[in-house]
Amino acid sequence: MAKRDYYEVLGVDKNATEAELKKAYRKLAIQYHPDKNPDNKEAEEKFKEAAEAYEVLSNPDKKARYDRFGHQGVGGPASGGYSGGGMSMDDIFSQFGDIFGGHNPFESFFGGGGGGRSGRTRQAVGSNIRIKLKLTLEEVTHGVEKKIKYTKKVVADGVQFATCSKCGGRGQVVQVTNTFLGQMQTATTCPVCGGSGKTISNRPAGSDQHGLVSQEVTTTINIPGGVEQGMQLSVGGKGNEIAGGIPGDLIIVIEEKLHDNLKREGNNIIYNLYISFPTAALGGDVEVPTVDGKVRIKIDPGTQAGKILRLKNKGVPELNGYHKGDQLIQVNVWTPTKLSSEEKSLLKELEKSENFKPNPGKSEKGFFDRMKEYFH
Ligand SMILES: [Zn+2]
Repeated sequence: MAKRDYYEVLGVDKNATEAELKKAYRKLAIQYHPDKNPDNKEAEEKFKEAAEAYEVLSNPDKKARYDRFGHQGVGGPASGGYSGGGMSMDDIFSQFGDIFGGHNPFESFFGGGGGGRSGRTRQAVGSNIRIKLKLTLEEVTHGVEKKIKYTKKVVADGVQFATCSKCGGRGQVVQVTNTFLGQMQTATTCPVCGGSGKTISNRPAGSDQHGLVSQEVTTTINIPGGVEQGMQLSVGGKGNEIAGGIPGDLIIVIEEKLHDNLKREGNNIIYNLYISFPTAALGGDVEVPTVDGKVRIKIDPGTQAGKILRLKNKGVPELNGYHKGDQLIQVNVWTPTKLSSEEKSLLKELEKSENFKPNPGKSEKGFFDRMKEYFH
């Protein structure tokens, strides 16, 4: 299922203020709230979709990454097999305190009262696993499907749970402190169960103190074209498991391998071409490596060193965009470093000719101007 644009989901434009975002989300949250739409899968999806959109767009850092990289930039599905966003219902409900100004309106809206959502325990989340993934320039350009083998913690077979005795299953403990304003009650996450409300009552042999064992797993992920060094793609739910909770994420950290001949500059690819002096003067065609294999390009007669040729759309695509960079070929003319006596006398003859004296035209752009144009 293709993910919808977050702005479209909330029905706001890119410049929406914080208040506008909140208002748009509040409206959708009320409309699609599960209490109001029991057993309606579509409403639930819409509810989750809106929560996820709000979660990203209301966070300036995530919003900036989303604006630049789209869903991939904010831990969206890197693998085709994973969908539904990274938020659980519990995450969503815990967000409501902020949206509805400190109280949860659903209790009164939908005749809650029967425990409602306010007494929910927080779901424990397993830790994330980070893995470095080296990609060639070809893989970065075209995107690639990668099988990744890694070790993660999984819940051991036979783990059993009991209600946490410290918090009685509530996941929170209340602390009373005396202040000059009187007694203050603060609820904090239970230190014993970590907020899940459960503790392990039976730990199988061979598992660690959290009831986990290490297991080697293989997962296939799709890396989209256009990723870059240091970028992180997160695959929801493929991280370490936790007893009684939901697994963490697998985070793929992109590393770019250096290419033998080609160099990436943003979305463009640079190639330094050396041609012989006779080819520069007479013209001809030469072979050039690209990320799509070798191509032959034409050299015009009278080509000067420093000229930059452009292979349109042979560069790196924008991540989640339509634009593709170019391959820029910088022409260098190879000066021979060894000459036979015959070659020497030939060149001495040529040196006498007027045509061989440097005579750069005024209309020709200078080397630095061209560099500025391409590499600004
Ligand atoms: Zn507890």
